[in-house]
Amino acid sequence: MRSKAVILHEQGKPPSIEEVEVLPPETGEVMVRVAATGVCHSDYNLVDGFRYVPNLPQVMGHEASGVVKQVGPGVHTLAPGDPVVFTIRPACGVCEYCSNGKFNLCIGSGGAPDPERSSRIRSKGKPVYHGSATFSQYTVVPENSLVKVRDDVPIEKLSLVGCAVVTGVGAVVNRAKVEAGSRVAIWGCGGVGLNVVQGCAIAGASTIIAVDVSANKLDFATRFGATHTVDASAEDPAQRVSQLTNGGADYAFEAIGNPKTVLQAFQSLRPGGVCVTMGAPPEQGLVEVPMQPLFQDRTLMGCSAGSASPRVDFHWLIELYQGGRLKLDELVTRQRPLDEVNEAFEDLAAGRVARTVLIP
Ligand SMILES: [Zn+2]
Ligand SMILES: [Zn+2]
Repeated sequence: MRSKAVILHEQGKPPSIEEVEVLPPETGEVMVRVAATGVCHSDYNLVDGFRYVPNLPQVMGHEASGVVKQVGPGVHTLAPGDPVVFTIRPACGVCEYCSNGKFNLCIGSGGAPDPERSSRIRSKGKPVYHGSATFSQYTVVPENSLVKVRDDVPIEKLSLVGCAVVTGVGAVVNRAKVEAGSRVAIWGCGGVGLNVVQGCAIAGASTIIAVDVSANKLDFATRFGATHTVDASAEDPAQRVSQLTNGGADYAFEAIGNPKTVLQAFQSLRPGGVCVTMGAPPEQGLVEVPMQPLFQDRTLMGCSAGSASPRVDFHWLIELYQGGRLKLDELVTRQRPLDEVNEAFEDLAAGRVARTVLIP
């Protein structure tokens, strides 16, 4: 299958848009026509070099929805025509963590990709590294990278569910388990942070404080349910959150992945409060927290991929969307064709968009 795809050749340089050949799926694999794919901060961090990528060149993209085009031998849960959402954490289903319901911590799938063996994408006849490779018109992934979803919602509306949405809402519901009436604060109001904001609103938090340095993003946060905003470039955000919550937040979320803001979020907690960090951390990131506050039952916890069970969580997220209680359309500031991926990265870096969705 001929396909147009976005390929990163070198970190620090913009990726290029190329014609590739997508080979048919092999055993346990599925070919998907990508309907829509979100441009996530972690894609950008591969381009700007914030996160080191050993395997280049590589077809980019991981947050998407689409329609099954073809299935390989041994695929029993999907058939051509099925609407699917990509999960960022394909789970093996049988390892110790999967058996315990902690699918986001699966140790049974993944491993270093070997393009000679596992790549189904060829550029100029050569295999190219790829994971989900959703910045492409067609891609081939393992069956467990896909969740079949209901067919009464236009599939192109669901591209953000598998990364930004489940990471943010999942951190609130699955990890922190925010109770109604909680006072919460959210550091970082990008794609994930906005979903923490709306997750807290859905959970019934009474005070929802959005913290960012971008007026634009704070404005987005208000539209997603923030009751207060704090410009961290203008005042001490931990102090301000303490004031607004009358003694500190019950829950503070850090959706950036920066040691400095993790500490700020932790310092905004009231005794007994919980700080959840979910931003992708820098390689050698180190957080130092003062011990006295810990001694008052405060908790600092990590959260990866929304601590989600995709085959459970995607369905209730989509039901919330259908019922008008989860905002998905409002997350998409702009749609662009695949060719404009670099303009989308520029918008993201400048904080101009909540999310750009590429329509391959
Ligand atoms: Zn992502
Ligand atoms: Zn597993």
